[in-house]
Amino acid sequence: MEKVKEISGENIDKCMQCGTCSGGCPMIDVLQITPRGIMHLSALGQEQKIAKANTIWMCASCNTCAVRCPRGIDIPKVMEAMRQIFLRKNVNYIEPNQIPDEVLEDMPQIVMVSCFRKHTA
Ligand code: SF4
Ligand code: SF4
Repeated sequence: MEKVKEISGENIDKCMQCGTCSGGCPMIDVLQITPRGIMHLSALGQEQKIAKANTIWMCASCNTCAVRCPRGIDIPKVMEAMRQIFLRKNVNYIEPNQIPDEVLEDMPQIVMVSCFRKHTA
């Protein structure tokens, strides 16, 4: 939690678990843990539960939750800090050579570059 605070510059202690972030998240249907849940788990220091869920990797960094949060917490920054912490363990969360050809053919290049930046150590 201290590392997340240090990297993100956000005070996650301010979260009051209102769930507004989850309520407006456009990715909510595919997230295994809601943004509110991620804030709760990070406050509890439950790193492994966060690591096992897809939430921080599926977050689109759209900022909807950040502009809606009544406590002014920049949740995408918190998610980014968590990704950095996990990627520093030198684990790739996507292997470029394992992406199927049909996906490579259809995927816009900018999406691929963004994906590699976000998911590889
Ligand atoms: S909207 Fe803000 S205060 Fe409410 S649960 Fe999400 S992070 Fe916490
Ligand atoms: S930044 Fe991530 S968690 Fe926040 S609303 Fe967008 S997709 Fe959801």
